[in-house]
Amino acid sequence: MKYSVNETHDPSLECRVKSAHDPRTDFPIQNLPLGVFIRLNCKSRPAIGVAIGDRILDLKQSREKGLLAGLDERLLEGVGSESLNDLMALGPEHWSALRRRISLLLRAGDASRQKAAEIEASLMPMSETRMVMPARIGDYTDFYASIYHARNVGKMFRPDTPLLPNYKYVPVGYHGRASSVVVSGTPVRRPWGQSEGQSAPEFKPSRMLDYELEVGAFVGTGNALGQSVGIREADAHLFGFCLVNDWSARDLQKWEYQPLGPFLAKSFATTISPWIVTMEALAPFRVPAMQRPLGDPAPLPYLADKEDMESGAIDLGLEVFLCPEGKSPVLLSRSNLRDLYWTFSQLLTHHCSNGCNLRPGDLIASGTVSGEGKGTGGCLLELTWRGSEPVKLPQGDTRCFLEDGDEVVMRGRAERDGFVGIGFGECRGRIVPSSDSF
Ligand code: CA
Repeated sequence: MKYSVNETHDPSLECRVKSAHDPRTDFPIQNLPLGVFIRLNCKSRPAIGVAIGDRILDLKQSREKGLLAGLDERLLEGVGSESLNDLMALGPEHWSALRRRISLLLRAGDASRQKAAEIEASLMPMSETRMVMPARIGDYTDFYASIYHARNVGKMFRPDTPLLPNYKYVPVGYHGRASSVVVSGTPVRRPWGQSEGQSAPEFKPSRMLDYELEVGAFVGTGNALGQSVGIREADAHLFGFCLVNDWSARDLQKWEYQPLGPFLAKSFATTISPWIVTMEALAPFRVPAMQRPLGDPAPLPYLADKEDMESGAIDLGLEVFLCPEGKSPVLLSRSNLRDLYWTFSQLLTHHCSNGCNLRPGDLIASGTVSGEGKGTGGCLLELTWRGSEPVKLPQGDTRCFLEDGDEVVMRGRAERDGFVGIGFGECRGRIVPSSDSF
């Protein structure tokens, strides 16, 4: 199923929340991302909400006030839950129905006075809430879908053969650690670990701590163990997207990654942005998949689909800022999700091509999203070319890798002429010093 542009994307929609019309907001009425929040200053349980301007529409409260009446019973049960997993399991028709209803509720002048008062009572300022994990993530997989990132990193370690022969045939990935995926704002402790020393391996706090700019897709409906998902159906299994920071300790990684791939260099923390921007919200921003350079092999038949080639990529601008403690943020890089070698449909289809079961709430990340040109590297390893070309910051400050107190902030925004731009909010995390002793 491919989502088409519909009335919920109409740029002329007027929203009852004034801040949703601020051209700088990530959350206009055309976006409607879902997340889970807790109200500050009261002992409330986590609740599912929708970001709108600088407010959150509380879906549980909306349901209790009858504002969602008439929607499917399972959908109503899902919105009353403390995570998005139950909603994710329901499938695209249900997600679309919910989106349409929320869009209607939030349109200005489209309700009786009493209903308008009930909608108003279900809206609360974001400043009075704290976001928590949007879903219980059962499994987390990280791919390596940016050919520019793969080529750059390959060049550093194998100048003669930067891309391994499998890269253009098989979407390379590894199974990450779901238990240490944390929501934006959670401090990240510098990990201890084993790395190469002058004469012998050492065990000490990482000195080459890095971030990786990525985008993650949440699986909606899953597939049974032993069954696969065809490339044409893959889209319908994807619920929506968030930003992902796959924190990486390069010194640990270099020492441990052969022959089985990343392990403790990655599993100490992965940060995600709290709002999930749905596949349907992104419909206007779908673009053709990256054109494979002349001479590259065509994808094998199970990963090849004309429609996916025509509209499988997403035009999503990404930015990374570094914010040293007590200082203003500095833009480190810009890249775009459309520059991936593999589409998310291809990643999902490949993931379960062996019968591996994906479940609602599983997280599939893109891998570091880098572009082709200078200043588009999605991690410090690339931007500083393995620490040999430090990034210059204001007042003579420089960085090769992250220092204690540094905060990394990622942002994503989709724009297209004729449509209202939508954003992902922030994915942020600050490095705190390693524990004193082990
Ligand atoms: Ca990664």
